[in-house]
Amino acid sequence: MKIHLGIDDTDSLAGGCTTRIATDLVRKLDSKGVAFLDYPNLIRLNPNVPWKTRGNGAVCLRIESELHSVEVLELAAEEIERSSRLGDPGTDPAIVLIEGTIPSDVIEFSKEALTCVLRPNAAVSLIKRVESEALSYRSAQGIIGALAAIGTSLEKDCTFELIAYRSWGFIGKPRLVDPESVMKMNEEMKEVTFNNVDPETGRILITPRGPDPILCGIRGESPEAVCKAFHMLRIREPVEAWMIFRTNQGTDAHLTRSHKVSELQDHSAVVVEGVVKEKPRTIRGGHVIFLLEDETGSVHCAAYEPTGRFRDVVRKLEPGDRVRGFGGMRTAESEIPRTLNLEKLEVLKLVPCMSSHNPVCPICGKRMKSAGRKQGYRCEYCESHATSKIQEEISRDLDERIYLPPPRAHRHLTKPEVRYLRARHRISPQLQSEWHFPWGK
Ligand SMILES: [Zn+2]
Repeated sequence: MKIHLGIDDTDSLAGGCTTRIATDLVRKLDSKGVAFLDYPNLIRLNPNVPWKTRGNGAVCLRIESELHSVEVLELAAEEIERSSRLGDPGTDPAIVLIEGTIPSDVIEFSKEALTCVLRPNAAVSLIKRVESEALSYRSAQGIIGALAAIGTSLEKDCTFELIAYRSWGFIGKPRLVDPESVMKMNEEMKEVTFNNVDPETGRILITPRGPDPILCGIRGESPEAVCKAFHMLRIREPVEAWMIFRTNQGTDAHLTRSHKVSELQDHSAVVVEGVVKEKPRTIRGGHVIFLLEDETGSVHCAAYEPTGRFRDVVRKLEPGDRVRGFGGMRTAESEIPRTLNLEKLEVLKLVPCMSSHNPVCPICGKRMKSAGRKQGYRCEYCESHATSKIQEEISRDLDERIYLPPPRAHRHLTKPEVRYLRARHRISPQLQSEWHFPWGK
């Protein structure tokens, strides 16, 4: 029997990690002789849901087994009860199990979960309708992600991430991954991996900074690439375990639907095309903000301070430029109005930009000087005279293309610049022959 097992929300802001629990569960299921139909899937959902931890990730295991679905559910429950931080506020773990073919309603639900804010009730009633099994602890909040992970197929595009975990005794201490080896790996593997290092600051991005059990995560185009890259690192602490996940990270899976300004919903992932209405301005905190307008209304778009030099691009916009903004809707807070928080910006059409200058003397070739109020312009050298300023088109220093913030400011789902040039990876879920149990060091 084919079984899809979705797990969500076992982590909290204080630590814990859904992928870590999934890794232990894979080991347990493997020991029971279960066959894996795919790499464990790590599915990132709408990153703008305000009450989720930053990653908003859920995991799905797709297996074929003689075990009864109730037994599988129990094994998963044991793992969650053993390892998740059930006592932390905001931790609402859930497990959903679907046998056989995934119903089309679940696939539709999963698409919604990538861009919108869904209510637990919608997930619960869908689970009843398709007669799947679910288990949730505390609130039913985690059911949404667990169900959505199952219905996300990764058909159109996917990437892989190798996640390595720390020994319990090291959690909370600095991560002992030799930075030089990361740089060397990045140099050699940059064609097949991404977001190892932030090019603007040189910051290493494969090691997170929180108290979670993740030692490092390497993202790339294939299981072979992330595996090779991982083994190039010099790591000076014990590696408890590592696992390769197939994921929708780096695919822009959440930025697919176009919206009119009047349709923009708070906390959703949106794509909106329009014309720059006012010159961008820098507000307190270093954020850059401008007004975008289409035929249905206008919305503020913001490039926040952490997006670094991306803000310089936004500052160069002029009223009349046609652009497409991609990102998440944020509600108003203190001095910042309701905004579209830009994850990327496509410049579609630049307006010609004119600048007025004092005229140039036709004889000497020098800029003329003002001859006094309403007196026109005069050449200092030959006394030539002109009546008015001249208009010159100035270079825009901006191209009609897509611009992205630096990788350190990316969402997990943001498609990095390097991937625009790469062929899309379509991996069939039939991986049994290639599946090697990726465990240990
Ligand atoms: Zn002159």
